[in-house]
Amino acid sequence: MSAIVDLTCDLVRRASVTPDDAGCQALLGARLRACGFAVESLRYGEVDNLWATHGSGGPVLVFLGHTDVVPTGPAEQWASPPFEPTVRDGKLYGRGAADMKAGVAAMTLALEAFVAAHPQHPGTVALLLTSDEEGPTNRDGVRRVVEEFRRRGQRIDWCVTGEPSSRDVLGDIVRVGRRGSLSGHLTVRGVQGHVAYPDKVRNPIHLAAPALAELAGTRWDEGNDSFPPTSFQISNVHSGTGAYNVVPGTLSADFNFRFCTASSAESLRERTEAIFKRHGLDFAIDWDLSGEAFLTNDGALRRAVTAAMQEVCGITPQADTGGGTSDARFIAPLGAEVVEVGPTNATIHKIDEHVALAELEVLPRLYLRIVEKLCS
Ligand SMILES: [Zn+2]
Repeated sequence: MSAIVDLTCDLVRRASVTPDDAGCQALLGARLRACGFAVESLRYGEVDNLWATHGSGGPVLVFLGHTDVVPTGPAEQWASPPFEPTVRDGKLYGRGAADMKAGVAAMTLALEAFVAAHPQHPGTVALLLTSDEEGPTNRDGVRRVVEEFRRRGQRIDWCVTGEPSSRDVLGDIVRVGRRGSLSGHLTVRGVQGHVAYPDKVRNPIHLAAPALAELAGTRWDEGNDSFPPTSFQISNVHSGTGAYNVVPGTLSADFNFRFCTASSAESLRERTEAIFKRHGLDFAIDWDLSGEAFLTNDGALRRAVTAAMQEVCGITPQADTGGGTSDARFIAPLGAEVVEVGPTNATIHKIDEHVALAELEVLPRLYLRIVEKLCS
């Protein structure tokens, strides 16, 4: 078997369900150290992060990935055991094969090949890995590493993440941005009492309803060429004691913005709170920012990636901003250009997850061409 299939199998065999890295990073770190990389382990809580660099100064090109995988679901429903990598019908099966151990293995091989051919390359080439991408909080993964980078003054110019971004064939999509996600948990305080004595109560349902209606009817922005307009949805509203003759004392509600680069989390927070203040509410909001929206413009990174995809895959990729979140959202605020390019994503997180061998064999060459275009 080829080097890329071997290495992907070695990673799939390690049952690295979040936050357990299960030795993936030690394996990759040892390989990169042997090629002259400086390798650093950053462990926060139960999460392993690996930061491997070669060269010095700028420009800084980072390949970004995660070694953790989602749980398998019922293992007996898999055609072959999920952590026993199995090749059949031209595909490699196993949990994490596509999301994203193929990408991690290919980025590692590309970096090994690059520094062997260009030992004196300009700037810095690096690999950043975490074992906390698939978890619910992502607290101790790339988010924490980026805090450390800010402390150190570590800049990043370009970041390529090998997440499974392709739709039908490898190279049809390059993901160049993501919508942001901002959630709020609202509490409106009133005064509880008997429904028959309206002068002695303050009804939080009556007070909150017009404000919630105004939020639901607000046009937050018009979107732009790369994104649809920002959307606002209320997902939960709770109030009332269950009794028909009691005015409740509080109302709570949950809502979420999926926002584009025409708005910022800060502006949405301010505008929301201004509406509640204008309605005279006694309120509190717990905000949770999952990630700012970002967009990588058509600069050096996008041009290099597009040209590499044309050469290696024979397709001109379509620039896209869809899909769920990824760790790219933590890197983009450092001022980096960020793209996601990797294998097809049809089976990720599913039973019988797999990656086509034909795609797998091409991936290291694709990443190698990208780094050659930017750093040699
Ligand atoms: Zn992933």
